[in-house]
Amino acid sequence: MTTQAKNLFDLSGKVAVITGGNRGIGLGLARGLAQAGASVSLWARDEVSNAQAAESLAEAGGQVQTLRCDVSSPEDVDQATAKTLERFGQIDAGFANAGFGDAADPLKLELKDFRRILATNLDGVFLCFKSWGKHMSEREGGGKLVAISSISAIFGTPMQPHYAASKGGVEALVRAYAARLARYDVQVNSVQPGWIVTDATAPAVENARFSETVVRRIPARRWGEPADLAGVAVYLASDASRYHTGDSLRIDGGYTIF
Ligand code: NDP
Repeated sequence: MTTQAKNLFDLSGKVAVITGGNRGIGLGLARGLAQAGASVSLWARDEVSNAQAAESLAEAGGQVQTLRCDVSSPEDVDQATAKTLERFGQIDAGFANAGFGDAADPLKLELKDFRRILATNLDGVFLCFKSWGKHMSEREGGGKLVAISSISAIFGTPMQPHYAASKGGVEALVRAYAARLARYDVQVNSVQPGWIVTDATAPAVENARFSETVVRRIPARRWGEPADLAGVAVYLASDASRYHTGDSLRIDGGYTIF
């Protein structure tokens, strides 16, 4: 690698926040960012998992902070932003990754269950983007906002209408914030992971029949791993993506083009 290329992706001295960073995709993003030199602040609700994640990142180098935060709470998000700024003085990249889904028949889904998913998956991204975006637009040097969306935002999902709607909303939020913040040198993008092995997908991975059907549809012929998202995280947090905004980057082993 040339010196120039190395510098382009070097995150030394940068600070990244990752919501839902204590396991799964969030931890994969955090590990990639830390290995590229960033200090990371992991926000999630379970403090035991937070501590385990911090320990597992120790060998990647850089500083690690963990904060208890429910991203559906405006107070929690604002407090976590304040505590991150207190510790590091800046947030250069914010990854709104916290989210979950469950199965539901659109003809039976209750409004309260629809809203429960949106509270974390959509309100959470909005609250984080607003809080981080304010900080980034008020300082020299801009920043990066990234939402972890899903290919459910594009596919018809017969048994996950609430999850799909939350991710469709995330894509619209990304474009709105991208257009609003570009003048402050803040780039805003989404990542759409395909089928990634995490606690959330473990039952599907363990269901041999289902898993075989999924893998047959993936040109790469395997499920993705959280580590497969590390490269795109580093790119989107780095100077390499300074003129790249309002986009959705699909990391799915080719699933959506097959
Ligand atoms: P996991 O269930 O493995 O991890 C979810 C993470 O989100 C945990 O760290 C959890 O921590 C945190 N979290 C959940 N709710 C909240 C909340 N209200 N406030 C703060 N943190 C919260 O899921 P994945 O890693 O699989 O998914 C991560 C993201 O990627 C989600 O947005 C998901 O929709 C998306 N995605 C996943 C795919 C996959 O195949 N796995 C595919 C496409 C998209 P804690 O419980 O401690 O709060």
